[in-house]
Amino acid sequence: MEHQKIIIALDGHSSCGKSTYAKRIAQELGYAYIDTGAMYRSVTLAAMESGLFDQTEAPSLELVEGLLDSIELSLQFNSSRQRTEIYLNGRMVEDMIRGMDVSGHVSYIAAISAVRRKMVEYQRQLGVQKGIVMDGRDIGTVVFPEAELKIFLTALPEVRAMRRYKELIEKGLNAELEEVRLNLEKRDRIDSNREDSPLKQAEDAIVMDNSDMTVDQQMEWFRKKYNSLMVELNGEN
Ligand code: C5P
Repeated sequence: MEHQKIIIALDGHSSCGKSTYAKRIAQELGYAYIDTGAMYRSVTLAAMESGLFDQTEAPSLELVEGLLDSIELSLQFNSSRQRTEIYLNGRMVEDMIRGMDVSGHVSYIAAISAVRRKMVEYQRQLGVQKGIVMDGRDIGTVVFPEAELKIFLTALPEVRAMRRYKELIEKGLNAELEEVRLNLEKRDRIDSNREDSPLKQAEDAIVMDNSDMTVDQQMEWFRKKYNSLMVELNGEN
């Protein structure tokens, strides 16, 4: 008998391995993986390209709201690269949104309610059929408060900075470890203190600190949680 499809919400601090973990879970269950950070990053890229950050650290609400109407996002699976890629108005921007320039601006864009409303609406549409692993900051609290399984990931700040730094270097992108550390600290501060949908653990989320865990160990942990949830939901395992 096929297992019932569920929604898995994976929230947590910046660079604590959410996307790696979410991809592995999705692969194992045959679920779709949805990276909501890529959506906020793509809107940020559009704002940067439109010059909205030229004179300021945080662009005006009116300008961002105006820009939003001209933004269309879509996700497509690239089978040769075995990854889902994000498109901004028909242009594949997956690689352009990962650098430090977008990382330095994204939290200002993500704090704007009109931006969040548009992104959350899109995210909810993607979850209609269930069978998804979605990672972000507000998935378990705002996007899918009814998600069957919520995981809140965290890790020590120095571990996160080193992971992110290595990831950027492996992608051939420019980065300094200290710059990465400061960016993570700043994003976590803005993301956790904004008024609309701040980063916080849902009351019914299970917390995992993966500072000292390999991805295989995290998967072991996940299988136990998932199997006991399946027993609870439909008496099977
Ligand atoms: O997950 P990632 O680090 O790519 O997210 C980039 C930024 O997008 C975060 O620092 C946060 O400001 C924003 N974000 C958000 N809500 C989400 C996902 C990401 O505010 N669900």
